[in-house]
Amino acid sequence: MKNKIALVTGGVGGIGTAICIALARQGYFVVANYVVPGSEIAWQNKMKAAGLGADDCAIALADVADFNASGKMIADIHATHGEISVLVNCAGITRDVSLRKMTPEQWHAVINTNLNSVFNVTRHVIDSMCDRGFGRIVNISSVNATKGAFGQTNYASAKAGIVGFTKSLALEVAKKGVTVNAVSPGFIETDMTAAVREDLRQQTLSQIPTGRAGTPEDVANAVVFLVAAESGYVTGTNMAVNGGVHIYQ
Ligand code: NAP
Repeated sequence: MKNKIALVTGGVGGIGTAICIALARQGYFVVANYVVPGSEIAWQNKMKAAGLGADDCAIALADVADFNASGKMIADIHATHGEISVLVNCAGITRDVSLRKMTPEQWHAVINTNLNSVFNVTRHVIDSMCDRGFGRIVNISSVNATKGAFGQTNYASAKAGIVGFTKSLALEVAKKGVTVNAVSPGFIETDMTAAVREDLRQQTLSQIPTGRAGTPEDVANAVVFLVAAESGYVTGTNMAVNGGVHIYQ
C-alpha cells in the first residue's frame, strides 16, 4: 500500500482526472472526491485504462460546499488510508449569466462550490500537515480571476478569492513545511468548456498565443511540479497555465 496520500476535490472531472493519474504515477495513493453519484464510473474506467487500480486510488463522495460533509470526508480518509500530504482543491462549477440577470442562487452556488469549498476542505487538513511538518496544497483558480469574463462575476470573484486565500495561508504556514500555491488554467478542453458556443470558442482560441486550447494534462504537469518534495521553496505563487494569455494582462 502506498503511504503518501493525495486528495483531489472534483477529482473525477476533466482536469481532476488528469491530476489523479499524474499524482498516482508519482507514487501517491490518490483519493478523488466527487459529488454526483454515478460520475465516478467514467473516472474508474479512465484510471483502469491508465493501469491504475485499488492499490493506487479510491473515491470519496462528499459535497465540498458543505463544511461538515468535508470534515467527515477528511476524517474517513485519515482513518481508512492515512494522513493527507497533498491536497488539490479542484472542485468547481460555472453558472454563467450577466450580473443584471444573475439570481442569488447562481451567485451563491458558484461562491460556495469554488471558494468556500477551499476553506471547508483545507481547514480540515491544515493542522495535520503542520503537525507533521509537511504538506502541499494546490488551489485551482482561473485566468479569469484576474482577466474577468463576460457573464462570470460570480466565477471570477470566487477564483480571485482563491488567490488571496492562497497567498495568506502560504504566509501562515510557511515555517511549517507546508506550501500553498494556486494554478490558474486558461481555456482547457473539458466538459466545463464543452458547453461554450462555437463562435466564442473560436474567438477564445484566436487569442491564445500558443494557438491551441490547453489539455487537462497541461494543468496536471504544473500540479506535479508544485507538490514535489523538491518544490518546498515555491509557495504563495499563482502559476499561469494558459498558453501565454496572461502576457496581455
Ligand atoms: P469539470 O470536468 O466539470 O469538473 C469539475 C468537478 O468538480 C466535477 O468532477 C464535479 O463533480 C466536481 N464538483 C462540482 N461541485 C462539487 C461539489 N459541491 N463537491 C464536490 N465536487 C464537486 O470541470 P474542469 O474543467 O475539470 O474544472 C476543474 C477545475 O478547474 C474547476 O475548479 C474549474 O473552475 C477550473 N478551471 C477550469 C478551466 C477550463 O477551461 N476547463 C479553466 C480554468 C479553471 P461531479 O462530477 O460529481 O459533479
